[in-house]
Amino acid sequence: MSDLSIIVIEDEPSIAEVVHLYLKRAGYQVTIVGDGQAALDTLARQLPDLVILDIMLPHVDGFAITRWLRDRSDVPIIMLTSRREESDRIAGLELGADDYVVKPFSPQELVSRVRAVLRRTRGSQTGSDTPLVFPTLTIDPQTRLVTALSQEINLTAREFDMLYWMARHPRQVFTRSQLLEAVWGLSEYIDPSTVTVHLRRLREKIEPDPANPAHLLTVWGVGYKFEP
Ligand code: CA
Repeated sequence: MSDLSIIVIEDEPSIAEVVHLYLKRAGYQVTIVGDGQAALDTLARQLPDLVILDIMLPHVDGFAITRWLRDRSDVPIIMLTSRREESDRIAGLELGADDYVVKPFSPQELVSRVRAVLRRTRGSQTGSDTPLVFPTLTIDPQTRLVTALSQEINLTAREFDMLYWMARHPRQVFTRSQLLEAVWGLSEYIDPSTVTVHLRRLREKIEPDPANPAHLLTVWGVGYKFEP
């Protein structure tokens, strides 16, 4: 048995049900979501250990969900594709899916693929979960712990996500809408000034002198960047 969690995003109840049954029997904790938007909401709250993803979904399709996931994590993704659409399979893999299973599939085969993908991805450290260490700042995505000048900093989940995102792309300039999309997700409507507010709070928390930031810099007329 394992306590690994899997989210199955599939809008056909008969398929979702049988996948649920087999994965549960294989010892995984399984959540079924039948709608793309609901899937993004669920994934934004907590990432599972693996995602099984249908392509054709109501509201937000499997490609958009893959893109959204790959912007923020290396969580393994197995796509469920229809036999006819070879282009879909290629597109899915190019977007960063780890594997695909062609419908109709045997549930036992899907379980084997899940095991294989988890073995592969958990066996090799992907590198993205290792702490980012800068001279005065450390960001650990595993524990979500941030220290600045050896002091532990309390960040909200969004503040952490935004700092981590920017620090993973040092010196890259992001507009407010790019940061919104990367940190808050594709389809939620949020005022861009939210980014400004979060950035200001982050500066107050991690910068020794928030008025003269060393890490979180404003690029006038464009947006923000992280300076290591
Ligand atoms: Ca479907």
